Amino acid sequence: MPSNITATSSSDWKYISEGGSSIVFSYIGSADEFIGTALRLRKIENKLPYTEYADGKEELDDPTILFQHRIIEKLVPSAYLPRLDSVQTDREWLELLAKQSEEKRPAERRAKDRIDAGRRKAVLATDLVGGLGWAVEIKPKWGFLPSPQHLSKDTAQLKTRSCRFCMHSHLKTTESEDVALGYCPLDLYSGDKERVTKALHTLWDIWIGSSGKVNNLRVFVEGHMLKPSMSPSSLQPLAAQILPQNPDDLPDLNTLRDAFTSTILPLLLDTPVLRLLSTHQRQFDALDVEGLSALWKHANQPLGSPDIPPPVLGEGLAQPTLEELEAFVEIYLAKHTTMDHDHPDTANLKYYCLAYLLSASFKDCSVILRMVPVKDGEEPWRKSVTVIDLDVKSVDRLHKWEQLDQKIVEAYIGLPEPTHCIDQTRVEV
Ligand SMILES: [Zn+2]
Repeated sequence: MPSNITATSSSDWKYISEGGSSIVFSYIGSADEFIGTALRLRKIENKLPYTEYADGKEELDDPTILFQHRIIEKLVPSAYLPRLDSVQTDREWLELLAKQSEEKRPAERRAKDRIDAGRRKAVLATDLVGGLGWAVEIKPKWGFLPSPQHLSKDTAQLKTRSCRFCMHSHLKTTESEDVALGYCPLDLYSGDKERVTKALHTLWDIWIGSSGKVNNLRVFVEGHMLKPSMSPSSLQPLAAQILPQNPDDLPDLNTLRDAFTSTILPLLLDTPVLRLLSTHQRQFDALDVEGLSALWKHANQPLGSPDIPPPVLGEGLAQPTLEELEAFVEIYLAKHTTMDHDHPDTANLKYYCLAYLLSASFKDCSVILRMVPVKDGEEPWRKSVTVIDLDVKSVDRLHKWEQLDQKIVEAYIGLPEPTHCIDQTRVEV
């Protein structure tokens, strides 16, 4: 039987942050069962009514929980995953929490959506950013260059030289979006001290320069998300954690950046997590979306009718069930490295579509680095690395990803100074 969150006071849950579809609260009360936990609730657009469940119809556990327990835990050791449990809730409690937290939410989010108070279940997770100490959230993004095998002659040179993230950043600047221009994920994934340092410095500079609007880096101190600015005083809570010997005398931004980097650098160099993420991303995306699209067309071309265009990538493909994904992961773990991906078989089309869907989850997840102070220890911090937001993606997006890929490449072709991104793993192979 899941715990019932309504037994706690809603005022014991403090607003932390929110993304596109969910909102997170940290427990600050004294019930043992909930100490060290965070509550993740689904949101719904303001223009829509709350989700309704017919009487007697039981709401399923949040898909995130089932997806993690049945799929992700086979791919990522549970030591690097948050604990996720289902908890019961109700409308009255959720509406009270929504009312209490509304003014803490950013105005642009409030204009768009609200807590879905119709839900009866929510997700209780390990609280990775609250409590003593501080935490860093990094969205590392795509950590590999594609194999040239399935790329067209127009894209091969480009895609094997400039990584997908760097090319996408360029497109976003042409569309005036806030962007992490200059950050190359391949530096962060490289395992090389100088390159990881460079990636962290760039992420830090972008974080400060964009006042925290670009979401590839976020910093939390005792549950508060910092809102950085060019003024060092905006970073005072972080300075108090990492440079405690200067309580009154605020360090300048460069000193802080160096202390920040030198604290988390060893953690990023030691952890197997980044390598694991990029390995799964690369293997799941073995054909690149271009190769996947070619395989799809080949398999779906109506027989004897070469003039009739085949359906677009993913059209008519049902969202895979958990059972299908489980079966897929079993084959992936047993056979993927021995399959001939240079000459994919149309009989494996579904395998490659599901693989691409999972690659998208791994390309879009975040990593939380947590530093909890240790009293009188040899090391000042107990550090940990956890992967979060490994959510299942919708199969409807396959065609959109294909179109976005074309758009990104088109905007990058002919650029006088394309970035030269080094894929360390590929170089070593
Ligand atoms: Zn790059």
